[in-house]
Amino acid sequence: MSPSPPAIRLRGVVKRYGEVTAVAGLDLDVPEGTCVGLLGPNGAGKSTTMRLLTAQSIADEGSLEVLGHRLPGDSKSSRALMGVTPQLDNLDTTLTVEQNLLVFTYLYRVPRAERRAAIERALEIANLGDRRGAKVDELSGGMRRRLLIARALVHRPRLVLLDEPTVGLDPQVRQELWALIDQLRNEGTSILMSTHYIEEAQRLADTVTVMASGRAVAVGPPSDLVREHAGREALEVYGPPARLREVEAEAREHGWPTRRTGTSVTILRAEELDGLAPEGERRTANLEDVFVLLTGEEVA
Ligand code: ADP
Repeated sequence: MSPSPPAIRLRGVVKRYGEVTAVAGLDLDVPEGTCVGLLGPNGAGKSTTMRLLTAQSIADEGSLEVLGHRLPGDSKSSRALMGVTPQLDNLDTTLTVEQNLLVFTYLYRVPRAERRAAIERALEIANLGDRRGAKVDELSGGMRRRLLIARALVHRPRLVLLDEPTVGLDPQVRQELWALIDQLRNEGTSILMSTHYIEEAQRLADTVTVMASGRAVAVGPPSDLVREHAGREALEVYGPPARLREVEAEAREHGWPTRRTGTSVTILRAEELDGLAPEGERRTANLEDVFVLLTGEEVA
């Protein structure tokens, strides 16, 4: 038996908007049953990639396969097998929670005999059973976002695309959604999740693709990326601007990789500094170090 096709496979994908190349030769793999985080700063090309996967946009070059179906030709078949959560909440506010789910059972052609069970299951996933009769505009931001995800699951898709699933939500609600996404992953659903929150990628993704200027600049499990690009330890040196410039000059001389925040300079691979290290605070290297090193962007 041949192995099952990957959930997503992109090779050399290019998408241009006039002068702007939004996606510039992207390779991306989502193995079946894994959660892949597409991590990048604003403008990196994440949303464009998501739109290409739903065939809302058509690539200028390259090949795209979703669950063994080639895009854009086979997009109808692939759309039927996947669930999509858009970045912008497009729930129907004139309908109740339950009615919003019902509409999607029709759109996704859930057989009539299974509709009731599909809605109940989605309500349970979203933990909105007791709000089933509420109009959407009576829900909190977190509830709406849970409903938006549950709505994409009524037909039990094998693949889910989550575009910035927790953007703009407070930390507590974000944690609730992380639990929901983690549950999906544990059930074997393949997930592609775009995010610019480092912690989200670190917690949920089996593999992270760091995207910058329309390309993948690093791919791997979060811990591997940290080890490969940032080492084991980081040394944070605090001080007035003049001191920070001094430390940066010293680092350049020695060839130490650094990154700057407003109030500190961080020297990466601090475990290799021996006795030469300036005074500072040591901490474990993390995915944020990798992100800043590779994309040159500060994290919000
Ligand atoms: P991200 O989701 O990572 O923030 P986007 O995919 O939205 O990035 O955008 C990538 C680049 O493509 C940006 O420079 C953006 O301005 C440009 N872009 C995206 N969509 C369009 C469009 N419809 N028309 C023109 N430019 C676009």
